[in-house]
Amino acid sequence: MENEKNSIVKCPNCGQEALKEDMFQEGDLFICEECYLDIHQKIKACDPWGVHSKTVLRKRAGQEGTEGLTDLQKRIYDLIVSRNGATSAEIIQELKISPNELQNQIAILRHCELLKGQDRDGVVYVVPW
Ligand SMILES: [Zn+2]
Repeated sequence: MENEKNSIVKCPNCGQEALKEDMFQEGDLFICEECYLDIHQKIKACDPWGVHSKTVLRKRAGQEGTEGLTDLQKRIYDLIVSRNGATSAEIIQELKISPNELQNQIAILRHCELLKGQDRDGVVYVVPW
């Protein structure tokens, strides 16, 4: 574990190398603090991974609406679409992610106008936009 913690990771966004413990985890990736802040400030642009990653993801995604999303964001989006809405608790259980992580991802997806919150008899569901 000591090794793992002290390993050097290259930020996939800017190429800068940093200690893994100083990086922020975003889905399956570790990115540097600079890029993390940058990304979360640029959420409105709906381009969370910048031009380079977007090109990579575009090859896999094939769907215009979800173009440029990370795999995790796509999984959340697909889950919600397939059920026509789900609660945060259901998504967390289904995808085995932390509430914090989910909150981040939902924020991005909301800014991309893919998902939104909806009150159903006092229970908040995440539903397709
Ligand atoms: Zn970076």
